[in-house]
Amino acid sequence: MKKIIYLDNAATTRTAPEVVEAMLPYFSENYGNPSSVYGLAGESKKAITESREIIAGALGAKSNEIYFTAGGSEADNWALKAVAEAYQSKGNHIITTKIEHHAILHTCEYLEKRGFEITYLNVDENGVVKLEDLKKAIRPTTILISVMFANNEIGTMQPIKEIGEMAKERGILFHTDAVQAFGQVPISVDEYHIDMLSSSGHKLNGPKGIGFLYIRTGLKLRSFVHGGAQERKRRAGTENVPGIVGYGKAVERALRTMKERTDRERELRDYLIQRVLTEVPFVRLNGHRTNRLPNNANFSFQFVEGESLLIMLDMEGICASSGSACTSGSLDPSHVLLAIGLPHEIAHGSLRLTLGEETTREELDLVIEAIKKIVQKLRDMSPLYEDFMKRDQK
Ligand SMILES: *Cc1c(COP(=O)(O)O)cnc(C)c1O
Repeated sequence: MKKIIYLDNAATTRTAPEVVEAMLPYFSENYGNPSSVYGLAGESKKAITESREIIAGALGAKSNEIYFTAGGSEADNWALKAVAEAYQSKGNHIITTKIEHHAILHTCEYLEKRGFEITYLNVDENGVVKLEDLKKAIRPTTILISVMFANNEIGTMQPIKEIGEMAKERGILFHTDAVQAFGQVPISVDEYHIDMLSSSGHKLNGPKGIGFLYIRTGLKLRSFVHGGAQERKRRAGTENVPGIVGYGKAVERALRTMKERTDRERELRDYLIQRVLTEVPFVRLNGHRTNRLPNNANFSFQFVEGESLLIMLDMEGICASSGSACTSGSLDPSHVLLAIGLPHEIAHGSLRLTLGEETTREELDLVIEAIKKIVQKLRDMSPLYEDFMKRDQK
């Protein structure tokens, strides 16, 4: 079998062998239910406590502010729905952005149907929220601001600290979807005035199906899943012990390797961007040139169908994405690319390449050659490109 080049780390990452190894004993050896009283259960309970402490430490939070969930989507749903319910006597207005993940956007639509008013902020051409717009959007009835830390499609980072300060000054709660950023950039919930933060294990070389919501002490949020007393009565259900253990290990690893790993990824990312922009004609980079996730590159190729490009890359053993995994399969162009002002036909020709800790320069060289070849091939079949070239020559 041909070796796979995996450049879709924003969709999910390979679970690190070290993480799998840490999880294994919690399937068939230490399988006790953490809520039980005997010694075997104590092992599970201890492991959960340790993971919680590692994760809390990574954010400068207290361990009783970390609530495990079944992933990033659940954490996003919980944050928004529970704040809406708990604070509706104070107001019914929520501010978010047009470029959030669907776990936020579709939850907002759900809340709109139930009488909440949502402001979806525009972003600039790089995908950055304008603080002036945010300030203007705030009303006396605003109860929550939810802005993602970094975008999953174009990698743009938001001015989280400034947003947090603005929310705090006005007594408004601030939630951030940090699924893409956690483990890639240092985050301090106190320094950034974050009241709630969502994260997911499988985006940082941890297992799938485990995430957490950080909830600052003092917030009155109802339980998300009703049942037993797990997660301090806020999220019932027998804990996903192996998942939690793997998550803790993944976070510990991510912290330990952050500086070196992201420096390396940044260098490779810039190499990739530089070469594609200079060696492929009619291409643009989406997202901020420098203020972006260390591992994200997102391009639009004129006169190319993104889906065809993906299929042909796949035939060369290259895994990439045309936007977010959730939008592929539908013919609507990405809401993020439209929000940064791309016309439909340009947005359709886009390609997201997200590097991982194992990506090498040799792999990128192969990918760049493949892109050059495939883009030319697709353009040679495109009537639009033919017309354009004819016009250009006149
Ligand atoms: C992947 C992702 C999610 C969803 O996380 P799951 O654990 O897959 O549910 C939410 N927000 C962002 C920004 C993501 O990239």
